[in-house]
Amino acid sequence: GKRQREEDALRTPPPKRRAPSGPDDLSAVVAGHCRTARRESPIIALKNFNNWVKSVLIQKYGRVGRGGRDALVRVLDIGCGKGGDLLKWSKNGVGEYIGLDVAEISVRQAEERYLDMRQWRMRAYFQALDCYRESIRDALPKEVFASPFQTVSMQFCMHYAFYSEHAVRTMLDNVATNLEQGGTFIGTIPNAEHILRHRASLPPGELTFGNPVFRITFPHPPPAPPAPEEQDQSAAFGHKYNFFLQDAVGEDEAGVPEYLVHWPNFVRLAAEYGLVQEYRKDFADLLNEEREHEVYGPLLRRMKVIDAAGESDMDEEQWEAASIYLAFAFRKR
Ligand code: SAM
Repeated sequence: GKRQREEDALRTPPPKRRAPSGPDDLSAVVAGHCRTARRESPIIALKNFNNWVKSVLIQKYGRVGRGGRDALVRVLDIGCGKGGDLLKWSKNGVGEYIGLDVAEISVRQAEERYLDMRQWRMRAYFQALDCYRESIRDALPKEVFASPFQTVSMQFCMHYAFYSEHAVRTMLDNVATNLEQGGTFIGTIPNAEHILRHRASLPPGELTFGNPVFRITFPHPPPAPPAPEEQDQSAAFGHKYNFFLQDAVGEDEAGVPEYLVHWPNFVRLAAEYGLVQEYRKDFADLLNEEREHEVYGPLLRRMKVIDAAGESDMDEEQWEAASIYLAFAFRKR
């Protein structure tokens, strides 16, 4: 019946429906205007899905305000980009939002997006900052830290810290020192095991895999994960690959440098900062677990991940790109 069709639509994406070829030059003209640009995006279905995943994660782990309804809930969004999660946090009852990103233009767009929309119940503060090299506490006004944060969020950005152990430690210190006890640290990153499995299945000499939607290219020689028992964990950082995601990451197929996050290594390091893993889920598993949920299920339709007929607009190529990622949550001891 209909339910079965819905399930099929999500589990296996429908036969490839070619993305409508939008007016490329137009979207370039409006590139500075994210809302317009987004409507033109050929991977709108994938973006909707990613937004749904973030909404679920935010609702599951992003509301940990202690003292009841009236307590002020504060969130720190590291790598906030153009502020795509502002509405999600506001809807989740957050009272104060701090958005930081190394890219000044993005931070400005995030602030514009906030100011454009009136009747926010959430206060917001934005600043450009390299959160993998600088201390957030030293760089922001003292008042920002008058009370602690209940949640630190890093969506699709934490892996950029893994170029060095020092950068990861700076990032973790920024997360842990600003989080209250019992607070949560949530995020989304590419799954390194998944990427390495893909690489292992490539024919010898082949250093690239993907499809028109996304492309991963390894350097030569490719990085190898550190043995878990290895004492020198510095071997676990700087494992670079190049990543391209259509209309999102990188200008062309050459993409931008990204770094593998070797999970067991990261969990050990996070523990040094009092952060304990509570949740880790591949996007595909998250979808299968939450699609029937009384709140997150209907949200799939509202966020246009599936249409009224229960069909997904994501084609196989977009689905393949989406399944690279995992969502995580840690709790501060
Ligand atoms: N979190 C947003 C979202 O989910 O839509 C943006 C994700 S975007 C793929 C990755 C973001 O990480 C970019 O905006 C980039 O500027 C930011 N970023 C990369 N390195 C950073 C750093 N050292 N400090 C702060 N932000 C950084």
